Amino acid sequence: MAEVKAERVGIMGGTFDPIHYGHLVAAEAAREAFSLERIIFVPAGIPPHKVQEEVTPARHRYLMTLLAIMSNPYFEISRVDMERGGVTYTVDTLADLEKELPPNTVIYFITGADAILEILSWKSPDQVLSMADFIAVTRPGYDLERLSKALGPFYLKFQEQIHILEVPPVGISSTDLRCRLREGRSVRYLLPETVVTYIDNKGLYGNG
Ligand code: NAP
Repeated sequence: MAEVKAERVGIMGGTFDPIHYGHLVAAEAAREAFSLERIIFVPAGIPPHKVQEEVTPARHRYLMTLLAIMSNPYFEISRVDMERGGVTYTVDTLADLEKELPPNTVIYFITGADAILEILSWKSPDQVLSMADFIAVTRPGYDLERLSKALGPFYLKFQEQIHILEVPPVGISSTDLRCRLREGRSVRYLLPETVVTYIDNKGLYGNG
């Protein structure tokens, strides 16, 4: 019997508050660089390090993400983090997705390099790395020493599974976008028009 080739799937975890071209460029770059068959965007429920912060309700972040990815046939979206409710831990995200994916799927969790610097403070980091490789997205010129210094022996143990992916610097961040929207400044060409229209229609980010 012919052997079934394991599918390679990217999991794009993020708060996406709001999603922007930086996220989309990163996901597409990861898809290409790691020959991923598809990428599943997973908007976080309540991110653990943002419990004190005001985060836009998950239903809006989900719909903005859906609007942003619709034109890419390789991009999908999952509600696992939203539906589980409460604080989002990546170990739970991966466990829920594993139940939905074919058993031999090779999983890559894609996130910002700054987010992965904090991985030692995440819930069950060893288990997380046993469930998925990590793709840490960064601008060109990232100093790998930052990662090895911050993560120490953990990095030595898992360095084969932590991949740095340099993407063209788009210089867009969700924080900056929220600030621009609050101040009524232009966000044109920084995120898809469909998402801008959604933000306008719902009056998000003090933009109403
Ligand atoms: P964050 O701390 O807000 O993001 C740190 C940096 O990474 C920011 O510059 C951010 O840019 C960027 N970034 C975030 N997600 C990205 C992505 N998918 N691709 C490229 N850049 C990205 O991170 P976050 O969004 O709250 O969390 C990222 C993921 O890690 C989520 O899935 C979250 O659930 C998970 N996480 C898990 C734990 C845990 O298990 N304890 C703890 C923290 C985070 P923008 O601000 O422009 O997005």
